[in-house]
Amino acid sequence: MIIRTYTELMRMDTMTDRYEYLKLGADVGDRTFGSARYFNQRFYSSPEWHRVRNEVIVRDLSCDMAMPEYEIYEKPIVHHLNPITIDDILDDNREKLFDLENLITVSYNTHQAIHFGNSGMLPRLPIERKPGDTCPWK
Ligand SMILES: [Zn+2]
Repeated sequence: MIIRTYTELMRMDTMTDRYEYLKLGADVGDRTFGSARYFNQRFYSSPEWHRVRNEVIVRDLSCDMAMPEYEIYEKPIVHHLNPITIDDILDDNREKLFDLENLITVSYNTHQAIHFGNSGMLPRLPIERKPGDTCPWK
């Protein structure tokens, strides 16, 4: 079992390296049906999740995979590096659900690619930015 950590992710300097580190197999996806869906929605609408989610976005300066020059303009998504399961939610496995080491800010496209990535769904990574063209929060 692969354990991914935020600390290890931050040692990688490029979007490609971070994406390769984060991407999941195509079979690992959120279950979005039946009771699983109900518990998922309940978790993602809980006040505690909202608090932790905000903390992660602030830490990552609202940038894609916390890369300083890749600011996110749409609503940021906070992704679990090691995907959570319904059992994690039911067992209140806080270490996986809320540990900042297991959370990273990503854009919608990057999130899709991490979960369902194939050549057709890869995010279009921005080309090199010019100096000064950086995250507005920095
Ligand atoms: Zn995710």
